[in-house]
Parts: sequence; structure tokens; C-alpha cells
Amino acid sequence: MKIIFLGTNGWYDTQTGNTLCIFIATKKHNIVLDAGNGFTKLDRVLSNSNPIFLFLSHFHFDHLIGLHTLFKFSFTQKFTLSGPKGTAKVLKALIKQPFTAPLENLPYETEILEMPESQNRFPFRVKGVNLFHPPLSMGYRFHLEGKEIAYCPDTGYCENAVTLAKGADLLISECSFLPGEHSADWPHLKPQFAARIAKEAGAARLALVHFDAAKYTTMELRKEAEKEARKIFPNTFAAEDDQVLEM
Ligand SMILES: [Zn+2]
Ligand SMILES: [Zn+2]
Repeated sequence: MKIIFLGTNGWYDTQTGNTLCIFIATKKHNIVLDAGNGFTKLDRVLSNSNPIFLFLSHFHFDHLIGLHTLFKFSFTQKFTLSGPKGTAKVLKALIKQPFTAPLENLPYETEILEMPESQNRFPFRVKGVNLFHPPLSMGYRFHLEGKEIAYCPDTGYCENAVTLAKGADLLISECSFLPGEHSADWPHLKPQFAARIAKEAGAARLALVHFDAAKYTTMELRKEAEKEARKIFPNTFAAEDDQVLEM
């Protein structure tokens, strides 16, 4: 299985990267985590006609702004868009005129599924879990080719995040805050908290993503975050756009 970090910024694009999107290619399926502007590169990395499954965590723009490019893709396979409760309503309101080409005019088959109600509708094991990021954010856990992958997007530290990552081979976690930051009103993770979740969960590896563009203005700052996280959870790396991980 191959994981490609298409976009690793949080909030907006800068020279450090595009907003959040992660691509996972297994032998049979193409899985996409969130659709920030990194999503616009999907056609560069898609190499087969296996079905595509997108999992949205929530509806902040940095997680779905890339969907305005849906019309440029000429998928021959079915494209399933899934997300937390309310996804169908949000996507039908957004992917239409006057914002962009309407969903029903796309030249390929699409379907919208809501989680966790639809979690048995996928040809692989996946679970959606609510995280702590008002009004909502959903994390996902996948069982793919014998490996457990946990995706913990926008959230503050919470028990559900630890449960989501229990014994995972890989935890992909947000890292919006700088090492010294914390906010009770705006729940996100600093690198030490992402590392704490990985450690408490007994995960094997931690990938940091979703670096807030206004705070992480250089790649050096990501390296600092990686260094701080490694003090708590040594097997951590700060992901960069277009980085490839083989599992
Ligand atoms: Zn975000
Ligand atoms: Zn958010």
C-alpha cells in the first residue's frame, strides 16, 4: 500500500504546501482523506481504475475547497464521497451553480454516503468517530491489507482520538498549533499532544499533517514540531506535500 501526502497545510495554501489531502492506494481501492487543495493533484497520482472513496472529516473549507475541481477529472471509476452526518446536504448545496459545476453534471458516477450510518457499505473495514472540533469533526480508522491506519484530523486532545488510534500501524494526526500553544476555545493539537495520543494509543508510527499556514510559515518550523513530538513519541515524522510512504 502506498500513501501520498498531497496536501499538508491547514487553513490555506502557502509555499509550504496545499491544504489537507492524503491519498492511500491499496491493490484494490483508492482512498482519499479530505479534499483541501491537495485534492487537485489526484489525477497526477491515480494510476488505475479502482474505485475512489473520499472521506471528509468536516466542512471547513480547508478540507473541501479542492472539490471545486471535480469537473477536471475524467474518472472511469465510481467516485464515492463520504463524510459525517449532513454531508449530502452540504455537498449538494456547495457543488452546484453559482459556485461550481453541479455534482449531477459530472461525467462519472458519484454517490454520497454518511458516516457512521454507512460504514458497512464499503468494501473494506472503516469506522468513523466523532472528535473534538466544534461544530463537528470525524476521524476515521481503516483496516487495509492487514494494516490499521488511523486518521485524526482537526481536533483537540480527546479520549476518542486515543481510542481511534489504539494499536494503529500508522496514526496520521493534525498538528495545527506550534509546540508552545494551546487554546481552550479553538480545539486543535500542538505536536506534543499529537505525540501523546500516539503514545497512549500504543500506535507504531505518527505522521503529522495540517500545519496551520499562519503559524507554520517555514518547513524549519515543521522540523521543530517533529523534534518536540519525538521527545514523547520517537517514531514521528512531519509530513510534506508529495511525500510518499510505502506500508
Ligand atoms: Zn482544518
Ligand atoms: Zn477545522
